[in-house]
Amino acid sequence: MFNRILLTFLTIIIVTNGVLAQDKKKRPPNIVILLADDLGYADVGFQGCKDIPTPNIDALAKSGTRFTSGYVSGPYCSPTRAGLLTGRYQNRFGHEFNPAGGKQGMPTNQVTMAQRMAALGYATALIGKWHLGSDAKMTPTERGFQDYFGFLGGAHAYFPGKGKDIYRGTKAVDEKEYLTDAIARESLAFIDKNAAKPFFLYMAFNAVHTPMQATDKYLNRFPNIKDKERKTYAAMLSAMDDAIGQVMAKLREKGLEDDTLIFFFSDNGGPTMIGTTINGSINFPLRGSKRQLLEGGVRVPFVMAWKGRVPAGKTYDHPIIQLDILPTAIAAAGGEVKADWKLDGVNLLPFVEGANKSAPHDLLYWRFGDQLAARKGDWKMVRYDKTGTHLYNLKDDIGESKNLAAQHPDVLRDIQESWTRWDRDNIAPIWGGGKKAK
Ligand code: CA
Repeated sequence: MFNRILLTFLTIIIVTNGVLAQDKKKRPPNIVILLADDLGYADVGFQGCKDIPTPNIDALAKSGTRFTSGYVSGPYCSPTRAGLLTGRYQNRFGHEFNPAGGKQGMPTNQVTMAQRMAALGYATALIGKWHLGSDAKMTPTERGFQDYFGFLGGAHAYFPGKGKDIYRGTKAVDEKEYLTDAIARESLAFIDKNAAKPFFLYMAFNAVHTPMQATDKYLNRFPNIKDKERKTYAAMLSAMDDAIGQVMAKLREKGLEDDTLIFFFSDNGGPTMIGTTINGSINFPLRGSKRQLLEGGVRVPFVMAWKGRVPAGKTYDHPIIQLDILPTAIAAAGGEVKADWKLDGVNLLPFVEGANKSAPHDLLYWRFGDQLAARKGDWKMVRYDKTGTHLYNLKDDIGESKNLAAQHPDVLRDIQESWTRWDRDNIAPIWGGGKKAK
């Protein structure tokens, strides 16, 4: 009899624990995307930067996995954001260039990550830069973001100005703070408001995009940088690092570290050539700039962290792309990607966790006006100007200096054929060449 009672008690305890464990496991993780704008490949500590300390971004990188071949699907702002929020190459729906106002913007027949996360019960917010259309039907609150604080265009001043074009929801606000500080403040408020339920926070900084503007608070941290542009860049980056530190501290304060999947990357490479929004960034050892499909335009600092799930302090070397973020988030949230979504990205979790040892992608592809590129394993095919299609082996030549097209015509032909097949599912750009990089 006694044994039977004991057994019943033990059974109750085991079942209860099981239910509790299951309940905890069942809580879908928050998704936080920390997006830098025009950040150079070499300009954060975890990428080897020496003159600009980025302790908070580095701590985030250390807490998760760093991608050594992390890419974005375009060489400037708006196209890569369209790719990010749809999980599809933006060329699929003609979003090849930056919109120039009017009715230009991400087509409303494309479903956004915010809509998909909201359908899974998530609270959603964009804090910061949109740049996917300013027509009334294309604004963040129409595209799945329940909360929105920021601006609609491609670039914005950091100091308070006369024009009221910063919005909270659909209302213009009179912002008084340095913009990066304001983006931090609003993000913390969103986390405070939504800590009890799963949320998707898309924190899209305009730092470190031009105009080059920083407050003394941040400038004074860099007495040793003499070059004025680099010094201001350092200050703007330091402000962003502080903002990310505040978000991380808030997640810890709310006990959400184990329950938050975080991505950090830049929307494109550093703008280092004339005709771009030059900001003092450095892409070393990569060659090329924003607006180019050379590595310097599309290979970016890239981190994924989720305490207890994503391995900490590791690097992952197979090529991945920002299109992977949406399907990864859907999988983490317990949702299911449908075939008719026609995603180009893949769920990265099995790859970074080691369950799947193969590469997430056989090839990655780019098309940007007359430029084209593809990466297959260590090989990179790229046409970036009128000198023809080049072939590089990135394993030996990350700086794309030795064109091997003549030595390996078979490799080049193979990649070209794959690219042509991929391009069949793309459409022509639905607006023009976007003369101005914003
Ligand atoms: Ca950008």
